[in-house]
Amino acid sequence: MNIEASHSERDAAPLPRRRTVGVSVGGVMVGADAPVVVQSMTNTDTADADSTVAQVAALARAGSEIVRITVDRDESAAAVPHIRERLERLGIFVPLVGDFHYIGHKLLADHPACAEALAKYRINPGNVGFKDKKDRQFVQIVEMAIRYDKPVRIGVNWGSLDQELLTRLMDENQRLPRPLSARAVTREAIIQSALLSAALAEETGLSRDKIILSAKVSQVQDLIAVYRDLSARTDHALHLGLTEAGMGTKGIVASSAAMGILLQEGIGDTIRVSLTPEPGGDRTREVQVAQELLQVMGFRQFVPVVAACPGCGRTTSTVFQELAEAIQSDLRKNMPLWREKYPGVEALNVAVMGCIVNGPGESKHADIGISLPGTGETPAAPVFVDGKKVATLRGPSIAADFQVMVADYIERRFGRPQAAE
Ligand code: SF4
Repeated sequence: MNIEASHSERDAAPLPRRRTVGVSVGGVMVGADAPVVVQSMTNTDTADADSTVAQVAALARAGSEIVRITVDRDESAAAVPHIRERLERLGIFVPLVGDFHYIGHKLLADHPACAEALAKYRINPGNVGFKDKKDRQFVQIVEMAIRYDKPVRIGVNWGSLDQELLTRLMDENQRLPRPLSARAVTREAIIQSALLSAALAEETGLSRDKIILSAKVSQVQDLIAVYRDLSARTDHALHLGLTEAGMGTKGIVASSAAMGILLQEGIGDTIRVSLTPEPGGDRTREVQVAQELLQVMGFRQFVPVVAACPGCGRTTSTVFQELAEAIQSDLRKNMPLWREKYPGVEALNVAVMGCIVNGPGESKHADIGISLPGTGETPAAPVFVDGKKVATLRGPSIAADFQVMVADYIERRFGRPQAAE
């Protein structure tokens, strides 16, 4: 087959991003032309300001561009302005979002300093209040947002869906000649809850550039279906996230599969990966996963990429896995500092390969790469810089020597020239 006949007309690229109305969340733009924003949420008791400041700081340093905190009672609301102030003293200006349920209208009214310190209010229309109080309390929060000039996220969640709306749609469905499945009606109820609430917020006077929508469910196929539909029916900025994604690899795979497909279709302006941390686990993992999802899909660059071969029967030592791991964690650990010191360093590509089969080829494509000796190969490791072989490392210090070469390369390529005396 010749190249012309086999060449696909389609670029290896996502579909164009859906056009949404941009919303500024404390200076971080979500939607319109802004890159997809990474956000996360704390799991500390917000009333415990020490723990919350520490966790927000860790999430922000890991790269979370917006951080949500629970505001569930008076003590939490009272702590918010102090948390904001203490973060700023640490040099952390990440916008804080307040997550309100049931009594948000009251907490915002009773704690004006909290209302002021937050950069956005999250409202769940399914549990803002019941019966006649529902719309009234929703409107009260929206009025607060207008008064303090803050955006809101109308965050519908499958687990706390507005039951009156769901019941009405289920009843209507029963009267159809060919009723839809209960699951399809539930998806429609989620979408309608978001759209009707957005319409009510706009009628109350909140402009569209102050409203972000989300419609989270826990199943991958449902999430894809809901967001495809939602994005076709509105130009509000969209927050993507799979709710109750779960622990460990299951949570990572489910979130990546669902959000990866939507992002590929141009849907989504900000993402959160909701991982259940293992006991004592690191909360910043969800930020790392969100960044890596956006990075591997080519949307954004956060940390240098380390390409490592998976290893096989040709490598009987673990040297190359250890080296790849050491380089990756070294790069991630240094990124907060390097982002300032070495502008553009996140575009770096490093290759760590296990043997001569693909090692030299892959290493040549990287900015800096090493091909370690496989089983039975001469114990020498050629190093390639910008496609050219520059050194051959030998002996027990191969790994350490390569790490020094990576650090030198970064300094040479990304370091700012020293100002002349
Ligand atoms: S580069 Fe070598 S060690 Fe690595 S997977 Fe390929 S053949 Fe195996």
